[in-house]
Amino acid sequence: MAEGSWYADDIDRMIVTEEDIRTRTDELAKQVAADFADSESVLLVGVLKGAIMFMADFARALGRYGPPVEVEFMAVSSYGQGTTSSGVVRILKDLDRDIAGRSVIVVEDIVDSGLTLSWLLKYLASRSAKSVDVVTLLRKPDAVRVQVPVRYVGFDIPSEFVVGYGLDYAERYRELPGVGVLKPSVYGRS
Ligand code: 5GP
Ligand code: MG
Ligand code: MG
Repeated sequence: MAEGSWYADDIDRMIVTEEDIRTRTDELAKQVAADFADSESVLLVGVLKGAIMFMADFARALGRYGPPVEVEFMAVSSYGQGTTSSGVVRILKDLDRDIAGRSVIVVEDIVDSGLTLSWLLKYLASRSAKSVDVVTLLRKPDAVRVQVPVRYVGFDIPSEFVVGYGLDYAERYRELPGVGVLKPSVYGRS
C-alpha cells in the first residue's frame, strides 16, 4: 500500500478534492467578510465533531479578509432511530460564553435533513444573538426541501453517504483531505 493511500480501497470516488475545498473556502470567506464588514467581530460556532476541519480552514480564511473572529464549539446529539435524525436534540457541550448581541455564524460540515440545524438555530436565537447565519461546506438535496435558512453553501452534493474532511463513518475517515463516497461494501463490515 502506498503511503497516504490506505483509504483508496474504501472510497468509491472523491467528489470534492482538497484543492476544491481550498478554493471554495476562500470564496466563502470573502463573501462573509464583505457581508460582515460593519461588524466588530464574528463569532463562529462549530458543531462537533464533523465541522472541525472546515472550522479550522474557514476561520483562517476569514482572518485574511474579515473582521476579527472568535471560535466556539457545541456538541449535540439528536435522538432518532438509526441514521435518520428526529429533530429532538440533546446538548452534549454547550457554548462557553454568552452570545447576546453577537453576530453568530454556525459552521457546519453538512446539511442533510436540516432537523438538527433547525433546532440549533432556534436555540441560538433564544440566547439573544444579534444575528444567526449558517455556513456549511456541503449540502444534500433533501436540505433544499426543508426550509432551513443556510446562507452560505460550499458545495451541493448528491444524496450519497460521504466521508472525509471531518465527516466520519463509525468515527473513521475524518482525516481524509477531501470528501468522497464510501463504497457500499464498507457498510457490510463491522
Ligand atoms: P441532518 O439533521 O441535517 O439530517 O443531519 C446532519 C448531520 O448528519 C451532519 O452534521 C452529519 O453529522 C450527519 N450526516 C448527514 N449526511 C452525512 C453524510 O453523507 N456523511 C456523514 N459522514 N455524515 C452525514
Ligand atoms: Mg454537523
Ligand atoms: Mg458522524
